[in-house]
Amino acid sequence: MQAEEYNRRGKELVDYITKYLSSIRERRVIPDVKPGYMRKLLPEAAPTEPEDWENIFSDVEKVIMPGVVHWQSPHMHAYYPSLTSWPSMLGDMLADAINCVGFTWASSPACTELEMNVMDWLCKALGLPFFFLHHHPDSRGGGLLQSTVSEGTLVALLAARKDKILQLKAELDQEVDDSVLNSTLVAYASDQAHSSVEKAGLIALVKIRFLPADEKLSLRGEALKQAIQEDRRRGLVPFMVLCSTLGTTGVCAFDKLSELGPVCEEEGLWLHVDAAYAGSGYFCPELRWSLEGIEFAHSFVFNPSKWMMVHFDCTAFWVKDKYKLQQTFSVDPVYLRHENSQAATDFMHWQIPLSRRFRSLKLWFVMRSFGLKNLQAHIRHGIEMAKLLESHIRSDPNFEVPAERHLGLVVFCLKAGNTLTQELLRRLTRSGTMYLIPAEIQTKRIIRFTVTSQFTTAEDILKDWAVISKTASALLAEKHGLNNANLLRSGTQKATGKEENADQPLDALADEKEDVVTQLEKAHVDLWIDKAWNRPRRPMRSLSCSSEPLPYWALFNGVPVSESGSLSAITTIPSNRPEKQALKKLTKFYSMPSFCNQWAQCSRHQLSCPLKFTHHHAIVCLKLTTIINR
Ligand SMILES: *Cc1c(COP(=O)(O)O)cnc(C)c1O
Repeated sequence: MQAEEYNRRGKELVDYITKYLSSIRERRVIPDVKPGYMRKLLPEAAPTEPEDWENIFSDVEKVIMPGVVHWQSPHMHAYYPSLTSWPSMLGDMLADAINCVGFTWASSPACTELEMNVMDWLCKALGLPFFFLHHHPDSRGGGLLQSTVSEGTLVALLAARKDKILQLKAELDQEVDDSVLNSTLVAYASDQAHSSVEKAGLIALVKIRFLPADEKLSLRGEALKQAIQEDRRRGLVPFMVLCSTLGTTGVCAFDKLSELGPVCEEEGLWLHVDAAYAGSGYFCPELRWSLEGIEFAHSFVFNPSKWMMVHFDCTAFWVKDKYKLQQTFSVDPVYLRHENSQAATDFMHWQIPLSRRFRSLKLWFVMRSFGLKNLQAHIRHGIEMAKLLESHIRSDPNFEVPAERHLGLVVFCLKAGNTLTQELLRRLTRSGTMYLIPAEIQTKRIIRFTVTSQFTTAEDILKDWAVISKTASALLAEKHGLNNANLLRSGTQKATGKEENADQPLDALADEKEDVVTQLEKAHVDLWIDKAWNRPRRPMRSLSCSSEPLPYWALFNGVPVSESGSLSAITTIPSNRPEKQALKKLTKFYSMPSFCNQWAQCSRHQLSCPLKFTHHHAIVCLKLTTIINR
């Protein structure tokens, strides 16, 4: 393709995109395809000869679109929004053309500098504390764009971990390997926190303890305080609230920052805040009530790529003390040094990857093109639409809103119980007219409805509601018919009992008749919905704190040190070793065993060992491996 053709095809593509997004309502939100659908539509291997664009592009409607979930549709209500907008797409078009990799300031100064300035704009526009600003005389902090909230949360964890390990090392008067100290650390999150929190713990080999949220699904200060005390008693080192969530993924609940913050300060814990979805809401001052206590935060992350209409990927991450990021991620190879290394900001020291896209362009375009005024209007409109749906659900006696509505997320279920709620979701999904996903509050199965598109109108919402309520009525009528038929069939002696039941809330009936509806349409069941809800629940998350840890002091006291100092000489296991059962628990709980696996490998292949071992660490590992392998 040459420049002239690019120019022509580019304009055609813009036309196609404009038409696609403007008429998206007409498309079925959920595709009707099965796994592997594309295999038969594509050749086995890439073409040897060049193909012309006509040919390539005609396959978009044939091959791609049939398998697309239309996230920009007003009838997309699953997950949280992932919105784009015209100026956002233009931003990436330009960024794609420039295609710089802005790891250092020198690698493309505009890339770093626009990001710093736009992150400051965003910080101010959301009402976040001044200490997150790059350009402020009293700030040591700053913000940057990361790829996802998941990555931001991992970055925060790694920074807090490094900081704590350095602190512990300074306090100890002996040389101890970082990994040994790492194994004593514990971080906290609510049991409502996003799965990325657990994943960050898995990657960093840091124990996360998931604390119970209150009845409003909000994590409170008292629960945190208790956990910290307990863990200190057990010899662990609490160092972080890895995730205080503002707007949880399940029901958009808010942890109580104003209580968690002071506890973190008192106990010296890093407080990380995840406002992935709700963050966009803070453009509106009236929605900032949940930010009370934000002055205690050490890091804050949210996704403009969700509700703010800056398309994916775009995650805003701020840190209060940028030096804590830099001390975690700094490497300094010669080929990346530049003459302004000292004076300029090199974002490669603030993140995990080296390279970075010019993401701030689309953010800049969106903020300027909408203006804060229209961004606020967009948020408020989304909330109004959610309220509209909520009012209809609440006025229908068949339905229940089991958790308070926050922002643009309404959750609902049928009063008739889990089975029928599940069946309702199945039928709505099958219809393809809207995309909803399931969630749970304790044992109650609920359906989430998020208002997504910026083009959602009251008419769209009413149309969705008409489908939902009609489907529910039909379902309830069928169930009622079946109950009556059963009544007739089961004869007089049982009928008395059933009549009593008929006066009770539908709930009791529905649970009793678990199988009735499922028999109805077994052939059409959408398996994924059943799987989502019926999968046995794990009693605890991985590396959670519900079993016995090996305390901090045990690593340094009473460990037999062999005279020669050689590992192979250490064969005795101390008499106070844990019982086998306790050790099994410990293995599950503790980040050490996988490390010991590494160690076992290293002992066979000394040279490939990437880790520096202290004597103590080796002994602890040896103790564990020996006992575990018995
Ligand atoms: C969406 C969401 C995430 C995950 O965001 P990614 O950017 O996909 O990693 C994390 N936390 C919460 C509360 C979310 O809603």
